[in-house]
Amino acid sequence: MTTGTPNTSDRGAAYLTECAKAVKASVDLPIQAQCEPPDDFAWFDRLHAAGVDSLGMHLEAADPDVRSRIMPGKASVPLDYYFEAFAAAVRVFGRGQVSTYLLAGLGDRAETILAMCDRLIAIGVYPFVVPFVPITGTPLANHPSPSSEFMYPLYQQIGTKLKQAGLSSADIKAGCAKCGACSAISQFE
Ligand code: SF4
Repeated sequence: MTTGTPNTSDRGAAYLTECAKAVKASVDLPIQAQCEPPDDFAWFDRLHAAGVDSLGMHLEAADPDVRSRIMPGKASVPLDYYFEAFAAAVRVFGRGQVSTYLLAGLGDRAETILAMCDRLIAIGVYPFVVPFVPITGTPLANHPSPSSEFMYPLYQQIGTKLKQAGLSSADIKAGCAKCGACSAISQFE
């Protein structure tokens, strides 16, 4: 369940809370909510209380320069603030129930992605590393996907890190890492 990035200080958390409540009132489906770090981390408790089982807050890219170039708006939220939010969210949702998208192929070096994965895994956040896929009609329509020579060793090394940390997509209650259709990472855990 996602919102995009609405121009509100709660970053869509209030709307997601209402939506999760309404869905859970009708059907007991596991729900992952996806939003950007809200201004008030009490939203994590409210989302959880509304029935959200897992949370995604997506970095998209790791290197601050790549972030600024690819997504200048989102990059205005500092990485340190994401990490404060990750830590607060893991306290509410639990280790391995908070995840983040990292899109390989937007300009991050493999070492940068791996270092970011180390940092995320250390605090119990699952790094959902996904190869960028261009979409016709978007500003990055002509931006290439990363090669399998880039992705395979990346997956292998992240898989080893996940194994060592005991983080598994199978244990995630809902969401993209649970689905896994956009990434082969679960095959390497
Ligand atoms: S297909 Fe699966 S992994 Fe991809 S965006 Fe949808 S839920 Fe997430």
